[in-house]
Amino acid sequence: MTSSQRLDLGGVRLYWLDGGGFRLDGGTVFGPVPRPRWNVEYPPAEDNTIPLTAHVVLVEDGRTWGLLDSGFGHHVSDRQRRFFTLERETQLEQGLAEVGIGASSIDWIVLSHLHLDHAGGIMNGDAPAFPNARVWVQQLEAREARDTTSRAYGVYSGQAFDRLTALDLTREVDGQASVTDHVEVYLTGGHSRGHQATLVRATGAAMLHLGDVLATSAHLPPAWVSALDDFPLDTIRAKRQWLPRVAREGWWVAFSHDTRHFAARLASDGRPAEFRPA
Ligand SMILES: [Zn+2]
Repeated sequence: MTSSQRLDLGGVRLYWLDGGGFRLDGGTVFGPVPRPRWNVEYPPAEDNTIPLTAHVVLVEDGRTWGLLDSGFGHHVSDRQRRFFTLERETQLEQGLAEVGIGASSIDWIVLSHLHLDHAGGIMNGDAPAFPNARVWVQQLEAREARDTTSRAYGVYSGQAFDRLTALDLTREVDGQASVTDHVEVYLTGGHSRGHQATLVRATGAAMLHLGDVLATSAHLPPAWVSALDDFPLDTIRAKRQWLPRVAREGWWVAFSHDTRHFAARLASDGRPAEFRPA
């Protein structure tokens, strides 16, 4: 792991791990944005697909270890593999080993939402992949994942979540909650009904993880939403609410799927001022 895949907030360290590599049609990822606009910002392959990574952020706050999202995991059906054009298996275990810890060291996991590319990694077959971790999800999202009529039911990891719930390893949140002294979650909605953001704070620095409300750096303009967003107006509202604050406070903001940039600081006009990796 190179130093560019780490971010030290001062007492709280973040490490980007690889939860799997995939491709989606660029038109799907950029919804209402015309192709000539987005293909400058995120160049597609000849077949119009764009490369994406299911980023997992490991958080070390001095007393606990946690994860923001969990990647695809190892149990992806053929149908799901085709939907996501999964090209690279999750490297989560290798990433943890490089940091010098194992799955049993993880104390908590925040899932931005329960789609497979974020939540698939919580189970290993029938056993929890992180036996000592409490998994934090919005109540609304847990309900949505169980709804067989929801649009995205085929990419939901609802059964995995239910299995963890039966083992008393989950924590359903209604709105805002503190996961640790340094980690808070907030309901955003938008990409999915119960989608949540995570704010990781240290002394003098912070990083906001907006999940799929901000899939790539090209999605920074609030109206650049994905066709996969169930509630695009809520995605726009969440970006308008949070991004000016990110700029004002000098926080980092993470991109859930960008293969080139994992996080950025923003200038007052909302454009990226500094990327990580640079
Ligand atoms: Zn996603």
